[in-house]
Amino acid sequence: MTGQHRIVVLGAGYAGLAAARRLARTARDARITVVDAHTAFVERIRLHQQASGQRISGWDLRKLLERKGIGFVNARATDIDTAAKRVILDAGGALDYDTLVYALGSSADVQSVPGVAEHAYSVATQEDVSALPMRDGLVAVVGAGSTGIELAAELAESHPGARVLLLGLEDPGAWLSVRAQAHIRRTLERLGVEIRSGAKVLEVTPQGPRLADGSLVEAAATVWTTGFRVPDLAARAGLAVDSDGRVLTDATLRSVSHPDIFAAGDAALVAGPGGRELRMACATALPTGKHAADAVLARMHGRQSQEFRFRYVLQCLSLGRRDGVVQVVRADDAPARTVLTGRTAAWVKERIVRVAAASARP
Ligand SMILES: Cc1cc2nc3c(=O)[nH]c(=O)nc-3n(C[C@H](O)[C@H](O)[C@H](O)COP(=O)(O)OP(=O)(O)OC[C@H]3O[C@@H](n4cnc5c(N)ncnc54)[C@H](O)[C@@H]3O)c2cc1C
Repeated sequence: MTGQHRIVVLGAGYAGLAAARRLARTARDARITVVDAHTAFVERIRLHQQASGQRISGWDLRKLLERKGIGFVNARATDIDTAAKRVILDAGGALDYDTLVYALGSSADVQSVPGVAEHAYSVATQEDVSALPMRDGLVAVVGAGSTGIELAAELAESHPGARVLLLGLEDPGAWLSVRAQAHIRRTLERLGVEIRSGAKVLEVTPQGPRLADGSLVEAAATVWTTGFRVPDLAARAGLAVDSDGRVLTDATLRSVSHPDIFAAGDAALVAGPGGRELRMACATALPTGKHAADAVLARMHGRQSQEFRFRYVLQCLSLGRRDGVVQVVRADDAPARTVLTGRTAAWVKERIVRVAAASARP
């Protein structure tokens, strides 16, 4: 040990990289190491594009991080020994830390409905998308949330003539304003996506999803997009977590049970406007990552950490490459009246996606 403060950042997604980048700029007296199972940055918010056959190139993590004086370890973290302050890695190695930033993100929730893990595809991680083949016959996209909507639109636009069915409990975009919902429906229909709302999937079979009314939707492929789940590493290591395994944080994003650990992004439970938990999003991962870095620095230098403050501004959905919806929202994420649609919205969304990647890039 050199006497330098050792900061280990677990996860090189939006939150982890935003934290590392901020730390490298300001914590010159620390040794920062980022750990990730991938060698290249995964631009998760473009995975629906990749799933429909578009090439998205990720940048080399080691090259960019090391150029900024940040260490990079390409490994999977399998455990955290919080007493010894050590992260255990899959390759048999281990990394000691003085402060840990936990930002391991999320993956598709494939456990809550029988058959999903065995018979459905998903688009939540790079591995999921690499495994998604396009084939003749119906593609049933389950979940009419933003991932399901964006994926259905992208598949239909990239594969004209393909049959894409969007199955959801509610209408697509039900949480948005009436105008936004109407535009989403119109655009999906224009792209040829079939929409079935009020459809509760109880099981996924090799033949397709089986619904609560007993009927089977015969599909060549079922894609599951109904939600994310977080790694169980924090729970296994004894950190205080919620029932989903997200790290419980205080107002400065520090673990409520382990003062040397800070958490950000999808894997952290963070209180947002009105005390409501922040939703899992790139839009929340970036600011929580930056704030966790500020809190680490404040603690290292004996200063009082600021409380995390956040307000939502926009919700942006792409509907293929040439259309979209930009919904202006209130501080608490509730939709306001203003909505942009069409090419302008597609342009805004593309700019935001680029800015998000640039904000994470060291
Ligand atoms: C198709 C799709 C579209 C989306 N669109 C939007 C959008 O338009 N707007 C928006 O705000 N959000 C969007 N999201 C959500 C957004 O991608 C996530 O909320 C965001 O990526 C979370 O960032 P994160 O840094 O917490 O985690 P991630 O980006 O998931 O990064 C976590 C990192 O941790 C690594 N990791 C995980 N476990 C381990 C381990 N044990 N050891 C080592 N490394 C590990 C992973 O390899 C990964 O690099 C979308 C998601 C998907 C799937």
